[in-house]
Order: sequence, then structure tokens, then C-alpha cells
Amino acid sequence: MELFSAYDANTFRKIGTELIERLAQQLEAREQRILPRESPAEMLRFWQQALQQPALDWKSFIDALLERSIHLHHPRYMGHQVAPPLPHLALLDLVSALLNNGMAVYEMGGSSSVLEKVVCQWMAEQLKLPKTAGGLLTSGGSLANLTALLAARQAHLDNWAAGTAERPALLVSEAAHYCVDRAVKVMGWGEGGIIKVPADEAFRMRHDLLPAYLAKAKADGYKVIAVVGSACTTSTGSYDNLNAIADFCESEKLWFHVDGAHGLAAGLSSKHESLTQGVQRADSLIIDFHKMLLTPALSTLLLYKDERHAQGAFQQEAEYLWDDEQSWYDLGKRTLECTKRMMSIKAFALIKFFGKDFMASYVEQTYRQTQQMANYLSAQPDFELPLRPEANIICFRYKPKEVKEEELDEINARIRKKVIQQGDFYIVQTRLSGQLYLRCTLMHPQTGAEEWRALVSVIRKC
Ligand SMILES: *Cc1c(COP(=O)(O)O)cnc(C)c1O
Repeated sequence: MELFSAYDANTFRKIGTELIERLAQQLEAREQRILPRESPAEMLRFWQQALQQPALDWKSFIDALLERSIHLHHPRYMGHQVAPPLPHLALLDLVSALLNNGMAVYEMGGSSSVLEKVVCQWMAEQLKLPKTAGGLLTSGGSLANLTALLAARQAHLDNWAAGTAERPALLVSEAAHYCVDRAVKVMGWGEGGIIKVPADEAFRMRHDLLPAYLAKAKADGYKVIAVVGSACTTSTGSYDNLNAIADFCESEKLWFHVDGAHGLAAGLSSKHESLTQGVQRADSLIIDFHKMLLTPALSTLLLYKDERHAQGAFQQEAEYLWDDEQSWYDLGKRTLECTKRMMSIKAFALIKFFGKDFMASYVEQTYRQTQQMANYLSAQPDFELPLRPEANIICFRYKPKEVKEEELDEINARIRKKVIQQGDFYIVQTRLSGQLYLRCTLMHPQTGAEEWRALVSVIRKC
């Protein structure tokens, strides 16, 4: 390809039109496998050969790619909690890709920078946060949690940047997402910097144990600066009692962070907002748009109760706290990313063209379907649920009478392997209290009785 012709607008128009048609077919496809058949080694061989093959043109490349990808737009996709994105929003990713407004400074992305503020304000209002709230968008929940904890460190640990003898730590449920652990390691707090509070039988943080765990941490020489609540947890979709954690944080003057990557979208539904009560009292919170808000990955909102903390994560000079002229529109100051995608245009379009009721109805639909799936599975004599789901995440295992307890893990692991090898369903697995369970997240709004009945019969056959 010649350098100048690579930018030809007519070629773009032509291949773009064909691509949209091909993707529209993909969106409707119900007959094909959900997961590709290839093992990683086979996949590697295929793509290595593809690179050498003169016959592989643009069109067959797209076909090969679609055939060899996992399909989230299918009601039998019931695995990890990544959204089947709304096609409108996928198109905006194309806009972002072509415009490539890098956004570190206002000049490099005027609209997308300012839209970030519009989106943050909207979400803060919906969740009934105080007027001082504000934040940013960043590349994923893991990075958003790290960013919030960096701001917490800046706010609660004097002179950390100059070097301090204090040993910082945070308290979090043992059932929380592993990225909190990673954030602690990234910050250099060491093994002792993450103190795991036990979870109850429904995998919610035992908040009644917080005082004892704090006292023990202090006695061991740690300076606890934050508590992280989960809304909800990844494995089981369990919501910590945010009000109880907020009470504790207020009385002990600790930073309260809520990891709501998956489940804080429930705060948009009047039916489910009770699950997220107390989030209004958090110093910081995150929500993934690419999970329960139907947006292409990655796109995560981080809100601070006091927007001024947004500058604290990456700036150590104290001026940011009292400088009212701080340049809120130069977003590179708030995020680890320098250049980033124009995430705010998707979030804005979701709010503007789909709206809060639409988002709430998606949450309600998937949560309701999960209750029904739980009812169905509970009624099967050879299936067992470790807990009643609160969100759209459901764990269960195959447990026929004739199988011994000690064989259950292996049998369920083998079942999952077979199910995904067959390629008609995608489900995952998790360990709860040491035991292996199958796990589904109902992400597709059309996943219904037909799907879980078929899944149960496939599991029995496997
Ligand atoms: C998915 C998830 C994360 C990680 O978010 P990414 O966007 O995948 O980085 C963190 N916490 C919880 C509770 C999650 O469910």
C-alpha cells in the first residue's frame, strides 16, 4: 500500500460499508459456536500461517477473526461479566478510533474532555452524591480502583512521597476482586498492606469484625487508611453493607472506597437501589460501563465525593486542594493514562439516547432472570446452589446423589471443560470456601428459561 493512498476516503467508505454489513450479520447469528474450537497452540499456528498467506485478503481476514472470537451477543454466552455492547456505542468506538483525540490536555480533545465532566455529573446526581462530587473516566475497573486508592493515600498519609516510616494498609473483604490486592502491591505496601476481613455465608464482608481487625492492624504497627467495600463481588455478586462500612469509616476517619465495577449500576434502578445504599457516603467509587452499562470495553467511571481529590492521585503538591482554578479540563492530570480513548462519547450517548430507565430495565431484566434461573436450579435434585444470588451472577454445581463429596470438584471442572469444548455455551467456574462451583453471569437480556434448561441438560450429558 502506498503511503498517500492509505488515507483514501473512498476506500474507507467502501470497506467500512461492507464491514458494517458483515458485523450486522454477526449480530444476528444464532447458529454458530459461541467459542472458537482451537486450542491456543492451534490458534497460534493459524494466525502465524495467516500472516504468510497471500490469499488472505481483507474480507477473509475479517471472516476468520469473527469465526475465531468469542461471541458476547448470544443468549448462551453466560460467562464473564463483560457486556454485550450496544451497537450504537460500538459505532462510537469507531468514531473515537478515527478522530483519535488523545485527551491528555483539553486541546487534544475538547468535546471528549468536557463530556467527561457532563457524564460524571449525571452519574453523581443519579446516585445522589453530594454536589461536590466529580471524577474521571479511565481504562477499566482495576486501574480505577488503583487510582482511587492513590488518591486515598495522598489524602491520608502525610509525606508519603518524601518517605515515611509508617506502614500503610487497607481493609477489604476476603471476597473482593483481586485487583485490590494488585493495587496494594503496586503502591508498594507489601503483603501486610492488604488486610482481608472474613466474609459471611453469603460472601458479604463481616463488617462487624472491622473494629477488631483495625485494632489488630494498629497493634501490628500498621496505619490503616482505607476500607474497600464491594458492590458487588465478582465471584458471587454479593453486596457488602455499605452503610455499615460507612459508619465505621466515619467514626475511624478512614477513606471509604466502593468497588462497584459490576454492581453499582443497580443504583440506577428504583427496584434494586437498596443494594447500593450507603454509596453516597463513600469518598470514592467506581462503575464499569463495559459491564452492566452495555458499553464496549474499556470504560470505567471513578467518582470522588469531593472532586478536588481527583488531582491528588498523581499530583503531590498540596496546592491542588485549595486551587479553585485547577484545570479540570486537562484530564491527563487525573489518570494514569496520558493518551486515552474518547470514552466519554459512549457514556454520553448511552445517557442521552438510551437513558436511565433503559439502563435500569437492563439491570432489572438480568437480575430477575437470574432469580428465575436460581429457582429452576434449586428445584433440580442433582444441582446445588451455595447461596441465593443478589445480582445477575449465579454459582451452582452438579451434585448427583451417587457422587462422593470429594469427587465433586473434579467432576464439575471436567463438566465445564466439556461444555465449552462443545462450544454452544460459555460458562465459567470459581472457588467458594475451597470448593469448585460453576458460575454464570446473565449478561444477555434474552437469556431465559430456554437457555438454562438447555444448559442443565448439556451438563447432565457431559
Ligand atoms: C470486573 C471487576 C473488576 C475489574 O474491572 P476491569 O474493568 O476488568 O479491570 C474489579 N472489581 C470488580 C468487583 C469487578 O467485578
